[in-house]
Amino acid sequence: MQKTKTPIRTCIGCRSKFPQKTLIRFVCNAGQILEIEGSKKLPGRSAYLCHSKSCIDNAFKTPKRINALLQVQLSKSAISEFQQTLIEKENHR
Ligand SMILES: [Zn+2]
Repeated sequence: MQKTKTPIRTCIGCRSKFPQKTLIRFVCNAGQILEIEGSKKLPGRSAYLCHSKSCIDNAFKTPKRINALLQVQLSKSAISEFQQTLIEKENHR
């Protein structure tokens, strides 16, 4: 079997590069941010984050930043809601 190269992605929290598989992947879809589990495909611009609270906090600190990254116009509440969801998940790992 041929080995497939692991794609490398940048965490938007700390801007370090990691194998895609080790990162949280999410996408903006229909005015909401959604996490993408596994290799599921969803339309929209996706972004990546480490499984780290500091990276999550950093990435969602300002709505402007995340909107620019995903090229969308999300409301502050939609963003903080997603941030909370991610943090809760990390707390339960
Ligand atoms: Zn990070």
